[in-house]
Amino acid sequence: MAVPRTIRLWFLAIVIVALTEIPALPQVTALELSFETWIEEELWPEARNAGISRSVFDSAFADAVLDLDLPELVLPGADEGPPIDQSEFRAPAAYFDEGNLQTLTRIGREELRNWSSTLAAIEARYGVPREILLAIWARESAYGRASIPHHAITALATEAFLGRRPDKFRRELVAALQILQSGDITPEEMRSSWAGGLGMPQFLPSTFLQYAVDFDGDGHRDIWRSVPDSLASIANYLARNGWSADEGWGREVTVPQQVSCTLEGPDQGYPATAWQVFGVTEAMGDGTLFLLMPAGRFGPSFLVTGNFYVLKTYNQSDLYALFVGHLADRIAGAAAGFSGDWRPIDPLTHTEIQQMQRRLETAGYDVGGADGLIGYRTRISVGAAQGALGRPQTCFPDRAFIDALR
Ligand code: CA
Repeated sequence: MAVPRTIRLWFLAIVIVALTEIPALPQVTALELSFETWIEEELWPEARNAGISRSVFDSAFADAVLDLDLPELVLPGADEGPPIDQSEFRAPAAYFDEGNLQTLTRIGREELRNWSSTLAAIEARYGVPREILLAIWARESAYGRASIPHHAITALATEAFLGRRPDKFRRELVAALQILQSGDITPEEMRSSWAGGLGMPQFLPSTFLQYAVDFDGDGHRDIWRSVPDSLASIANYLARNGWSADEGWGREVTVPQQVSCTLEGPDQGYPATAWQVFGVTEAMGDGTLFLLMPAGRFGPSFLVTGNFYVLKTYNQSDLYALFVGHLADRIAGAAAGFSGDWRPIDPLTHTEIQQMQRRLETAGYDVGGADGLIGYRTRISVGAAQGALGRPQTCFPDRAFIDALR
C-alpha cells in the first residue's frame, strides 16, 4: 500500500531532526530528504501537467528509493565532470566472440520454431525478417533470459535527480509515468536497466510510448512478459524508422588493396555496379550500397544497404548493427562465420583516442566529435591522415600512427 508522500516527507524530517544531535549525520539521509522534496515540489507539478493522476504518481513512487549504487551519479561535494577515461578501447573482435555467437544461433533457431506462426504474422504486417527480430531480442536481453535488474522508477528518478544527464532522464521519467498511467504495466513489474532500458527490447520509455504495440491482443503493451508484444514492438520500431522489405542488411565482401578504405560510410553510397567497377567483389542487388570497414584494414569488410543504418537507429554502434545482421544470417543458415579475420589491434585507451581525435580536428579533419570511440568518420579521417603522412592507409589507429601524428 502506498504511504502518502506528505507523511513520508514528515517522517524523514523528524528523523533528520532526531539525528541532528549526533555529530556524524549520514549525508545519505539528508540527500533522501531532498530527493523526496524534489519529487513532490518539482516532479509532481510536471507529471500532473503531463496527464499523470495523483494515485498513479503515488503508486509509482511507493517503492522507489534513491539508489546511490547506480552509475554516472554526481554526489554533492564530489568533483563535477566525468573522470578521465583510462579504460581500454574494446577491440572490434571482442564483439564477435565465437562461442557466444554459436550459443545465440542455437537458441535463436529454437525460438524460430517456438514462435514460427507469431513471427510469420509479424513479418507479414511489418515487413521485417524474423531473423533480424530474433537477433535484436538476443542482443538486448538474451531472448528474454537476462534478468532486468532495476525498478525503472527508482533508476530513472535517481538519474534525473543526481545523474550526469538530468534533463534526459527527467524526460524519460515522465514518459515512464505515462506508461504507468496507461495501465500497460504495474510499477513493480516495470523493470529496466540502470539507464532506463525497458523489458526485453530495452526500449527507453519515450521509445515505448512511440513504438510499443500489443500484438497478442490482451489489451496491454507488455514488453516484459509477452514475446509477441516484444518482437512486434521491435518490428514496428524498425518499420517506422525506414526498414525496406525489399533488401537485406548487407554482406561481407573482398576489398582489394587498391580501393581506398576512406570510401567507407553512409555518406558515400554507390550502386552495386559502381562497387564492381572499383574492384569490390560479390556486390549485390540494385539499390545503393555503402562500404563498411568497422576495423579498417584490420578486419573484414562489408557492403551494406540502407537497412543497416535503420539498425543503427536502434543503437548507434556499427558493431551493434553488424552483430545483429551477422547473427540473423547465422540463425537463417546463410552464414557460418566471417571470411576475413579480425586481426589484433594495438591496445589504446579511450583518452588516447580522444587526444588523437583532437589532433586530427586541429589539422582540419572531421572525426564526428572527439568522443574516444572509433566511428566511421574517425576511421575515414585516420585513413586520409595516414595518406597525407605517406603511411599505409589502414583507416584504423595504431600506436605508430598516433606517434607520427604528434
Ligand atoms: Ca499484449
